[in-house]
Amino acid sequence: KDFRNNVKPNWCPGCGDFSVQAAIQRAAANIGIEPEQLAVISGIGCSGRISGYINSYGFHGIHGRSLPIAQGVKMANKDLTVIASGGDGDGFAIGLGHTIHAIRRNMDITYIVMDNQIYGLTKGQTSPRSDIGFKTKSTPNGSIESALSIMEMALSAGATFVAQSFSTDLKDLTALIEAGMNHKGFAFINVFSPCVTYNKVNTYEWFKQNLTKLKDVEGYEAGNKAVAMKTLMEHNGLVTGLIYQNKEQKSYGEMVDGYSDESLSKIDLSISEEEFNKLLTEFM
Ligand code: SF4
Repeated sequence: KDFRNNVKPNWCPGCGDFSVQAAIQRAAANIGIEPEQLAVISGIGCSGRISGYINSYGFHGIHGRSLPIAQGVKMANKDLTVIASGGDGDGFAIGLGHTIHAIRRNMDITYIVMDNQIYGLTKGQTSPRSDIGFKTKSTPNGSIESALSIMEMALSAGATFVAQSFSTDLKDLTALIEAGMNHKGFAFINVFSPCVTYNKVNTYEWFKQNLTKLKDVEGYEAGNKAVAMKTLMEHNGLVTGLIYQNKEQKSYGEMVDGYSDESLSKIDLSISEEEFNKLLTEFM
């Protein structure tokens, strides 16, 4: 199974998003699905281009709306493996409401955010994930707003799968995406994916010095939400690995009557012209 296509990414050389693309392609191959069984839905931003770079169904949506579209795709065809993706500006600013409610809904979707703490496509503005003091064209004297603690927010919203990774850790990232795709419910994976062109603070070197792998935290287990929250707060959110997983909570599909029946997209909904005109008359 080859999830590569012949479209050449136009990300800047060194952008973290290349590794995220490779990890998705490897994870999809590892779980044994075919390209026509995968749909990758993206929002707007440099990260949004990813849906065009993977050999699968793809939809490059609008800003902050990859999750509503991805949920619609999954509802219409539950047999598809659905990945939603985007950047931190996309998913944690304009799209934050969708993110929180998609987490609560717990549909069987994997949401991968390429978090570079800046808006890259629009040439470098402060994002909801930028730290206090972060200087860009939009905050020339330094940001005065706190960075959103997105992992803690996901736990608070009731997420059943929360993970974080770093784009250079390709093996770990691939394994986490694979685990997310196999998770029954909504899998939220935040990936630190450096913007080498506009973010000169949160660089590859900065992450190497500041990230802690959860597998190096003695006795850490991903099944305890209170421990997960405490660990995140102790490390200022800068941890990588599987942070929390709840395998017991039912997914959306397991709770909705009729969801397990034939996919909507496979039911013949065609009607004759006569029936169509009758319907039109009824609604006019
Ligand atoms: Fe990547 Fe930044 Fe270039 Fe966008 S501007 S492609 S995020 S390095």
